[in-house]
Amino acid sequence: MPPVIIQEGEMRLAELEGEREKILSEIGTLGDMRSGTISVRYQKCSYKGCECHKEGHRGHGPIYSFSVLREGKTRIKNYKLGPEFAKVEKEVENYRRFRESCHRD
Ligand SMILES: [Zn+2]
Repeated sequence: MPPVIIQEGEMRLAELEGEREKILSEIGTLGDMRSGTISVRYQKCSYKGCECHKEGHRGHGPIYSFSVLREGKTRIKNYKLGPEFAKVEKEVENYRRFRESCHRD
């Protein structure tokens, strides 16, 4: 094998090791994470006389929900704005960043 190729290979390895250190330190600072999706929805209720059934009404809300696929089923949990939802939002964001770190090209 020509020496120049070996040198390139070594350089690439050093780069990868540097990258690995960077990823590990990034992940180390992320904190709790969870996979899933945050969404904001508006919903019409079942009471026909309610204002939400009038034309142009987008429905009740905003309803903040967290959904995740578990054992083939989508589980959804609704939240009100507040510390509990903020925590979920942060954890989902952490997971997104974690995945980004792992799948970087
Ligand atoms: Zn309603």
